[in-house]
Amino acid sequence: MHCPFCSAEETKVIDSRLVAEGDQVRRRRECLACHERFTTYEIAELVMPRIIKQDGTREPFDEAKMRAGLQRALEKRPVSVESIETAIANIKHFLQATGEREVRSRRLGEKVMDELRELDEVAYVRFASVYRSFKDLHEFRQEIDRLEGQEREPEPSSQP
Ligand SMILES: [Zn+2]
Repeated sequence: MHCPFCSAEETKVIDSRLVAEGDQVRRRRECLACHERFTTYEIAELVMPRIIKQDGTREPFDEAKMRAGLQRALEKRPVSVESIETAIANIKHFLQATGEREVRSRRLGEKVMDELRELDEVAYVRFASVYRSFKDLHEFRQEIDRLEGQEREPEPSSQP
């Protein structure tokens, strides 16, 4: 990069170390022309994609809003805070891993539902009923039936 003092193009790195618990690389550089020294910081760019809403408008990913939605669905459910945080981390990782600048809200919603289904079936149905805004009770009933069908497999925590 150019020297910030004289704008010369040639600078050399004289020291490089990890800082901020390894999240940043701090580099000391020296200008080959004027010999001034300066510091640069390098961080990985993990930008959250923007969310495309149903009506086509875009909005920034709102972690607080998503967390609130998860917590509402998980209210009074036997799920640890740690599990919820893991689910949130998974969802954020999913968004970042798309590598896209914009993601449809539907994809985000489906991912949230996947994570909730892993955590707690009741919370999943609560969330899905709001999120998908089932058109009628029949549709909602179908979803419940589908879930109950999936529950045939034995669960370690289920009571005899
Ligand atoms: Zn210089």
